[in-house]
Amino acid sequence: MINVKILTGYPEMFPGGLAHSVIGKALKEHLFKLEIINLHDFGIDNRKSVDDEPFGGGPGMILRPDVVEKALLSASNNQNLNSTKIYLTPSGTLLNQEKLGIFAKLDEIIILCGRFEGVDQRAIDVLDFEEVSIGDYVLAGGEIAAQVLLEGCIRLIPGVLGHPKSLLEETFSNNLLEYPQYTRPKVWEDSLGNKHDVPEVLTSGHHENIKKWRLDKSTEKTKKIRQDLYIKKEQKQD
Ligand code: SAH
Repeated sequence: MINVKILTGYPEMFPGGLAHSVIGKALKEHLFKLEIINLHDFGIDNRKSVDDEPFGGGPGMILRPDVVEKALLSASNNQNLNSTKIYLTPSGTLLNQEKLGIFAKLDEIIILCGRFEGVDQRAIDVLDFEEVSIGDYVLAGGEIAAQVLLEGCIRLIPGVLGHPKSLLEETFSNNLLEYPQYTRPKVWEDSLGNKHDVPEVLTSGHHENIKKWRLDKSTEKTKKIRQDLYIKKEQKQD
């Protein structure tokens, strides 16, 4: 079981999306544990403030390192050796499927969610947070990013997905995007009266041909829209 601990100024944003569907079921079945730590419980002075203006000037507010440390100390459980601390930030290393696989094998994940202009760099360096970004765009806070990371990670825990086989052939396995998928009706008549059939091979019952068609489609799609993945795949084969 993974113990997830979230340090946030917006505790009411959790469990949020993590309470639903397969991840919500995993939470109920204790396949992972979610503990939310409110940064405001560790705020300083009468106002319980957690942030302050940036030294050197500039807009916005920065989360104080002393507040982050106090919150972290309340969350840390030293018995857990296999643990990682993540600070979600657009200036971190990009999250990918391989990283999610590594996180899914941990005993404990502690996630710090930033807001406004971010977090004092000393907190990140001294308290040893790994800086992780969920993509090349800027959100208003780390809470949704934490849910993205956790949803991707928790679904990899054995027993979470009904069909573990679905993990084997999905997008990014073997550096390929997934092939297109189809379901009933076999012929779909749209609102304009146009009829759309599914690719014939998929209803042929010929498993070898289906396998080959899917690989061809995956390769074609990857080559067209994700050259970076395609190059990686080619390099792995050499
Ligand atoms: N001034 C910062 C942006 C702060 S955004 C900069 O230029 O880097 C406010 C908070 O949202 C961040 O502290 C972080 O926790 C979260 N956040 C925003 N975009 C993110 C992303 N792409 N990945 C992960 N966290 C993100």
